[in-house]
Amino acid sequence: MIELIDKLEKEHSLTLEEYKTLISERTPEYAEILSEKATEARRKIYGNSVYIRGLIEISNICKNDCYYCGIRKGNKKCERYRLTAEQILSCCEEGYELGYRTFVLQGGEDAYFGDEVICGIVSEIKNRYTDCAVTLSLGERSFESYKRLYDAGADRYLLRHETADKEHYEKLHPAELSFDNRMECLENLKKIGFQVGCGFMVGSPFQTDETIAKDLKFIEQFKPHMCGIGPFVPHRETVFKDMPQGTVELTCYLLSIIRLISPSVLLPATTALGTIDPEGREKGILSGANVVMPNLSPSEAKKKYELYNNKLTGGAESALNKKMLEERMKTIGYEIVTDRGDFKTV
Ligand code: SAH
Repeated sequence: MIELIDKLEKEHSLTLEEYKTLISERTPEYAEILSEKATEARRKIYGNSVYIRGLIEISNICKNDCYYCGIRKGNKKCERYRLTAEQILSCCEEGYELGYRTFVLQGGEDAYFGDEVICGIVSEIKNRYTDCAVTLSLGERSFESYKRLYDAGADRYLLRHETADKEHYEKLHPAELSFDNRMECLENLKKIGFQVGCGFMVGSPFQTDETIAKDLKFIEQFKPHMCGIGPFVPHRETVFKDMPQGTVELTCYLLSIIRLISPSVLLPATTALGTIDPEGREKGILSGANVVMPNLSPSEAKKKYELYNNKLTGGAESALNKKMLEERMKTIGYEIVTDRGDFKTV
């Protein structure tokens, strides 16, 4: 194990078999060694800065029926909503005043948000806030559509690959959704020039050490600028309602490994991690993450964008949330910065 950890630290690469061993033979002691190496690797590039992204959940209307997701089409109990352009812009205004320099527009695959509508919103945000980055996370679209969004000024795109194992992918999604298309979308986003984020849920149903090893190999080879991983948390109105949730322990272990695969990757301590453990996000940062994504959505939207049970909403208003987050990061020796927080090439 120590040899594997040293190899990962030096070469940023392991074989599939080695990744699998690293996962299956893990102990708290090895986790500690990995997290020390991961935080050191991050410190060399990003110091003790933690980047914040203002998350705006623009719509929970979705044409897809992903088995794990609380806003899946088949959830008839989900109260649907869609923000107007004005609402989205006012979230940005509030966020800008608080020091956010990246806005992430995320949503279900809602046909209302066609290219024209999104391009209009993106270019308005970029015109008003010239020092800000815009990240989109709106699911699968065509090459042409992604290109239009990019030309309208979007800088980054988050599209979790969900799992790098085709058979596993098919157990998490209905037949209309394909692994190959998801992967092609990621390739297209990169080709177009976006800073791209992939990622997966930790502890998703049917996940094995082998599928996780494939996820790690995929991350190593795809070289994403960002990588979102968080524990799977069941939602009561989904196919997977009785499945066990992922753990903080494995999520943090994988955050350390991903940091060593790619020292400069932008790695969020996710909301899901903060949801299953009140100190989850701090633990994520201490394992190698360097991004947090507080929610700037209007409070009604926050409640309705329920991807999983009891999703953390921050509770308080955005200003207070940010203050508390700052305090919490300070307590563990980190500093929230007002910065676009771009990917650093080393
Ligand atoms: N429609 C967009 C955004 C999806 S929501 C897209 O397809 O990319 C963002 C992420 O939330 C998903 O990629 C998924 O990995 C995660 N997610 C969905 N349901 C979840 C659950 N039950 N537990 C944990 N994470 C979940």
